[in-house]
Amino acid sequence: MPRHPGTRASQPSTSHGIGQHFTSPRRARTRLKSSTPVIIPGRARKRELLLNRLQTLLSQRGPNPLHHPRTPSPSLAVGTEQDQTVDTFSADFDGADDHANIEVVPDQPPSRPVHRNIQANQYQKWRSTIPTLIEPYLAYLEHTLGKPVPPPAPILSNCQMSCETKKTELVALYYDYFQPICVLSCQCVSLPQLLIHNGLFPTAPSQPRMAVSIELLAFYQALFERSCDAVNALATALNSHYSRQGF
Ligand SMILES: [Zn+2]
Repeated sequence: MPRHPGTRASQPSTSHGIGQHFTSPRRARTRLKSSTPVIIPGRARKRELLLNRLQTLLSQRGPNPLHHPRTPSPSLAVGTEQDQTVDTFSADFDGADDHANIEVVPDQPPSRPVHRNIQANQYQKWRSTIPTLIEPYLAYLEHTLGKPVPPPAPILSNCQMSCETKKTELVALYYDYFQPICVLSCQCVSLPQLLIHNGLFPTAPSQPRMAVSIELLAFYQALFERSCDAVNALATALNSHYSRQGF
């Protein structure tokens, strides 16, 4: 019986040891298949639809979600004692990054209408800032796809036209550490764009004091998407907690 080269029958038989290692013959691939870029069907159309939707959202002048049509009662319009205590939480929660330029007299906290204005201003600033971040964000994704995240540089700058720079110092939050960084923004690259270019998202639209790693935010989003309803876990945890405290 003829033994074809490359087949198992052509291997020399052995009664001891492991014999000769048999490998499958490599199949020659056509260059046409391996060198032609793959075009994912429907991708261009999907991108076009998303861009149209974004354009529609941006062009809509819908009601400001931070604007409450309810007119404030006279007791709230003036800085009464009740007013001074109500907005303590929202004042802390706003992040306060963009409030650095607002002069606040320590003994007289700003009244509720002022806070509404601050929130509305910040909302408008985010609305105008977000569209300028799309291109740098896509470029960052394209640049870092499938690669390990590079270590952060202590000084961030990407000026192409040697214009006058503005120095901003802030804290960058990564997976497991904080790092103070210095950002040199200028007319051609804004501060948020520069942060996005370096994989950081600002915590405020114009004067951030902190920036969070895009990878960390993406991981948080993935966790949020996959996390189940934790009501039972919370109930059991509360039960254990109060049991240990003797209730
Ligand atoms: Zn510049």
